[in-house]
Amino acid sequence: MEAAVLDAYGEPLDIREVPDPEPDPRGVVIETEACGICRSDWHAWQGHGEWADDRVPIGQILGHEPAGTVLAVGDRVERIGVGDRIAVPFNLGRGDCAHCRNGHGNVCSDGLALGFEADAPGAFAERVAVPYADYNAVHLPEGVSPAEMASLGCRFATAYHGLAHRVDVEAGDWVAVHGCGGVGLSAVHVADALGANVIAVDLDDQKLAKATDLGADETVNAREEADGGVPEAIRGLTDGGAHVSVDALGVAETCRNSVACLRKRGRHLQLGLTTDEERGAVSLPTDAMTMREITFLGSRGMPPTRYDELLRMMDRGTVSPAELVTAEVSLGDVPDRLAAMSDYGTVGIEVVTEF
Ligand SMILES: [Zn+2]
Ligand SMILES: [Zn+2]
Repeated sequence: MEAAVLDAYGEPLDIREVPDPEPDPRGVVIETEACGICRSDWHAWQGHGEWADDRVPIGQILGHEPAGTVLAVGDRVERIGVGDRIAVPFNLGRGDCAHCRNGHGNVCSDGLALGFEADAPGAFAERVAVPYADYNAVHLPEGVSPAEMASLGCRFATAYHGLAHRVDVEAGDWVAVHGCGGVGLSAVHVADALGANVIAVDLDDQKLAKATDLGADETVNAREEADGGVPEAIRGLTDGGAHVSVDALGVAETCRNSVACLRKRGRHLQLGLTTDEERGAVSLPTDAMTMREITFLGSRGMPPTRYDELLRMMDRGTVSPAELVTAEVSLGDVPDRLAAMSDYGTVGIEVVTEF
């Protein structure tokens, strides 16, 4: 089969023939129908993450937001059959540790990150193996296109889990979202669906316009604000600060702005991972956070066991991940589309639908 392989950090991915995957006894293999291109792929491609012992190995097939049709099933799999259409969260649980059994498979003690490690080759490929499929695979509802489902493996689900399960967004909360890439725009859309008043922050008017389409009530262009101006603008719009603020990018400035724009007892949600500027650490005003009772929460992906609620919201049209998808591209386009992320040149979510 054809796949996009990482041969050297920062060099174009190589599209080439590789051996077809076989299912493990507890896994399945799907024919990939869609796989979103995500900033996490870009981080992997750049070789980021060695500061957290999380650098993707050379030779990796990238791609971690797959949806497709099951082609082959391991002999210990019970819940998934050949011909089923499934989506797959990138952070795979094994299903039997204490975290998995308590519904937190996204932080499994011995989990796998699809598309980021040698034991879990990714989905920028015609076929992809899905380990521990009974636990991880999510059946696609009838009528949902693969492109709509692809971002559910990562960005849309990450935004939903973070907002709904980690910072517990409530109707009427002011929610500020810093960075309107794929996960940021997803957060805007989900926060709006949960009944929040949403403020989108970015440097790019095109992304802010997209955020408005997706449900943002207010926008702040950070380029037009002086130093320290973004938190001040948000405090002005919210009569004292946001209840919830999201760093959907992961650079020092957006992280600090997010913490600084909160009202007392506000909740910060960290979704973005850092770049080689921050190398995994950002300094924060901990005294002010203590005095103001600020909560800082990290969030990673979504447990497979919580997808039902999101699928019901999609079914009723409360959320519509398809609105995030701005381009459908082919496997051969992946190297170029990743490179376009280096200068933040993509708007919305781009999905590979041609393999
Ligand atoms: Zn992703
Ligand atoms: Zn586990």
